[in-house]
Amino acid sequence: MSPEGDAPIPLVDLTRQHEELRREIEREVCATLAGGRYILGPREQRFEREFAEYVGVEHAVGVASGTDALYLVLKAMGIGPGDEVVTTPFTFIATAEAIANCGAAPVFVDIDPATFNMDVSLVPGALTPRTRALLPVHLFGQPADMRPLMELAEERDIPVLEDCAQATGATYDGRRVGSLGTAGAFSFFPTKNLSCAGDGGMVTTSDAGLAAEVRMLRAHGSRTRYVHEALGVNSRLDELQAALLAVKLPHLDRWNAERARIAGLYGSRLAGVTVPARAPGRTHVYNQYTIRTPGRDAVAGELSRHGIGHAVYYETPLHLQPCFSGLGIGEGTLPACEKASREVLSLPMFHGMTDDEAGRVCAVVNEASARG
Ligand SMILES: *Cc1c(COP(=O)(O)O)cnc(C)c1O
Repeated sequence: MSPEGDAPIPLVDLTRQHEELRREIEREVCATLAGGRYILGPREQRFEREFAEYVGVEHAVGVASGTDALYLVLKAMGIGPGDEVVTTPFTFIATAEAIANCGAAPVFVDIDPATFNMDVSLVPGALTPRTRALLPVHLFGQPADMRPLMELAEERDIPVLEDCAQATGATYDGRRVGSLGTAGAFSFFPTKNLSCAGDGGMVTTSDAGLAAEVRMLRAHGSRTRYVHEALGVNSRLDELQAALLAVKLPHLDRWNAERARIAGLYGSRLAGVTVPARAPGRTHVYNQYTIRTPGRDAVAGELSRHGIGHAVYYETPLHLQPCFSGLGIGEGTLPACEKASREVLSLPMFHGMTDDEAGRVCAVVNEASARG
């Protein structure tokens, strides 16, 4: 309860989404259990086709998480020790973890402070003879500036892997993320815009060879049963998760539009803080609604006092994480990212959130920021 006795507002409320589709979900889950195929069965195959069609690519390969999707694509691209992959330091750990787990080195370029995405003007200066791929992230649900990245990649003849974990359904120049680069990596973790009830992920690509390689690697390096041509992993999207995702996918565009509508409400009512910038030619699906204010901690404290969910994505940029201390990139080297990490604050955002709830969030933020 807040000081005024209002009900708490969570950062994300998945129960409202589930309730909306409860009958259909329960029917599909029960049918899956009764069917007796739980791994790599008909539901996963069907959802792969539907997801490929939704994104606008030839192939989609279901895997166990967004993290695995990133890792398996990089592996399939042949990235390994001695290689460098250019990416952003302002993202979830999985982006750079996947690079490092392949034995390659992440090369971090600073961000555009307006969109929080990779500053593409800095990418040419980060390229070396060892650069083997570019890995932009569509952070918070807004696509990175893909056209200049694709031009650079073509000049250098290197692939581009899009981290689409936060941006399922977002578009750039009218095309969905995951169809712009060489491949896309998606996450269906419960808090993402399209989510399952556990871990799940997907690789998208129109490169048949790359898709086949990921398919082989996700199943212990095997194309033919019990023949293992490479060392792979065990990483599949299971039938129950696929069943759930297939029920939800047809509703995703409507849900994303609903999130954009709530973002519009926020944008028109918030004062004294910087609201998310919108880059031209892109749709933003607001996986997070992230404001900026130098008074971040005071605003966060006031939200807590009123029982309103909030989070800081990301408190510590990846180049300053202990696991990457070996890269020797110290504080002060990526100033736009470091400043953002001190000022960002993500507010409640989920489809099913009411106008009244959005209004209450704005009132608390505005009051706290006016008090300064
Ligand atoms: C969530 C997320 C991932 C990882 O996805 P999981 O399914 O949790 O493994 C990767 N990158 C970004 C940007 C994410 O937000």
